[in-house]
Formats: sequence, structure tokens, C-alpha cells
Amino acid sequence: MIDGKALAAKVREEVARDVAELGHVGLATVLVGDDPASHIYINLKQKAAQEAGMQARDLKLPAETSEEDLLQTLEELNEDDSVDGILVQLPLPDHLDENAIIEAIAPRKDIDGIHPFNAGRLYLGRPTLVPGTPLGVLRMLDEYEIPLEGARAVVVGRSAIVGKPMAHLLLQRNATVTICHSRTEDLQRHTLDAEVLVAAVGRTHIIGADMVKAGATVIDVGMNRGEGKKVYGDVDPSAAEVAAYLTPVPGGVGPMTVAMVMANAVSAAKARRGLVSPAT
Ligand code: NAP
Repeated sequence: MIDGKALAAKVREEVARDVAELGHVGLATVLVGDDPASHIYINLKQKAAQEAGMQARDLKLPAETSEEDLLQTLEELNEDDSVDGILVQLPLPDHLDENAIIEAIAPRKDIDGIHPFNAGRLYLGRPTLVPGTPLGVLRMLDEYEIPLEGARAVVVGRSAIVGKPMAHLLLQRNATVTICHSRTEDLQRHTLDAEVLVAAVGRTHIIGADMVKAGATVIDVGMNRGEGKKVYGDVDPSAAEVAAYLTPVPGGVGPMTVAMVMANAVSAAKARRGLVSPAT
């Protein structure tokens, strides 16, 4: 089992050390409305930022905030030199144009890596701010020294926040990458070929043990709500009998995501101070 919790703690320590060295890292979270799940996510990010010693601003705007007012808020954060990273919690209420809001975040402060400028740089294989979840997966693969060069990697899911950036990161590492999605025929044929398999689908246990190659590394991004508060992955736990490495759910990819967003804030702060190229 790959221990995401322990690795996330290590990343958070590195971030705290970097923040102390830099002297100041400023982060602003923006939440519009009162979706309970969004509140939980924002609180997690605020807590992580504060624990890392960042100066964290917590903007909570009413659900009826106009697009004009939200754009104005983002403009102010973009201009504010004390703010290194901006996080706008998605989804936004229906009356707001999500794409317009994302594009209004200054790319150098876009620590969720969702602005088309950053997505474009990733596509081109250039250093950039990358969404926390796929970045966390890459860090896990590196930490466990999983060979990627020349490896056959299969990513199931092609969302803008997980599947696509994951595939690009693996491609940058010279893996041979296949992307599967809801229209893929005979998913098992593809997954059985994977030395590295990343499942980011959102369907409980859609990847069974019979879909996993012996000795493969299997990363389960899925977080699917079951009865009560229980969370299930996309990969059936019995896959552990076939795979060499598997991430548990919970305690695998989940804890890495927030830690890597915090690492992105440090990268953005360093890049804004001219210490490194625009993040890695
Ligand atoms: P998403 O936007 O709903 O994307 C799901 C992807 O899975 C889509 O590309 C979809 O294909 C594909 N898919 C759906 N059914 C399929 C099937 N039967 N066979 C093959 N592919 C199928 O979801 P997401 O935001 O990427 O998230 C995926 C999962 O990861 C969710 O469980 C989510 O909660 C979890 N997640 C976890 C973290 C974390 O921190 N651990 C972070 C983000 C997301 P189409 O494109 O054809 O529709």
C-alpha cells in the first residue's frame, strides 16, 4: 500500500520549511455561496495554509454575488502583492460563468493550475502550475521509485482537473500513455496492459482485480460516497492481490491533493520573486 497520509505529512513539512525561508507566502481562498462540501474543502485548505505558516485570507461571498463583483474581487487579489496564490472553490453557483472566472485569475497565482494558460503550458511540456491531484500522484510515483520512462501507463478518466493533466505529466516523464473514458470500448483490454494504472472515474470499484496486470502500480483517485460517511475508491480493494503497489481509499491520493496545492503556493511565491521558473 502506498501511504498517502505519511507522504502528505512530509510534503507539508517541506512546504512549512520553504514558507519559513521565504518569510512570507500569501494565499487567498474564495468561496461563493454555502455549499456544505465546498465549505469543508475551503476549511481544509485554510487549515493547511495556516499550519504551513502562510498568511491565509478567507473570502466568503454570498451566493447571490454578481459576476461583476466576483471579477472585481479577483482583480484586487491579482493586483495585491501580498497574495501569491488564489484558490476559487468550484463549483460556482449557476449564474456565474465558471470559465470566465477561472480565466480572470492571474495565471502566476493560479495554484489550482486550472487557468488555460497553465493547462496550455502543461500541454506543451513546459514548467507550470499543475492541479494538485495529478501532481500528488506524480509525487507518490516518484517517492516509491516507480519507473515511468518507457512504461505503459493507462489513465482512466479525462477530466480537466485530474485525467488530462495526469496523462500529460506521465507523457512528460516518457511513459507511453493511453487515456480511457466513458466511450472506451473494452476498458479491461487497456487496463490489463498498464504497468501504471491511474483510475479517476468516480464509479465505485469499476476497476476489478481482473482488470489489473500482475505487478502493476495502481493509483486510485476515486472518492465515491457510500452509505453514511464511508468513501470508496474506483478500484476494488482485491486488486491489492495482483498489483505491486496500490493506493488505499481513504488515505491515498486524497491527503496528497491539499498538500500539493500548498506546494504550488510556494512554487508560485518563488516564481513571483524570480527565484525559479514558473513552477515545476
Ligand atoms: P469527472 O469530471 O466526472 O470525470 C470522470 C471521467 O471518468 C470522465 O472523463 C468520464 O468519461 C470517465 N468515465 C465515466 N464513466 C466511465 C466508464 N464507465 N468507463 C471509463 N471512463 C468513465 O470526475 P473527476 O473530477 O476527474 O474525478 C474523478 C474521481 O476522482 C471522482 O471520484 C472524484 O471524487 C475523485 N477526485 C478525487 C480527488 C482527490 O483528491 N482524491 C480529487 C479530484 C477528484 P467522459 O469524459 O467520456 O465523460
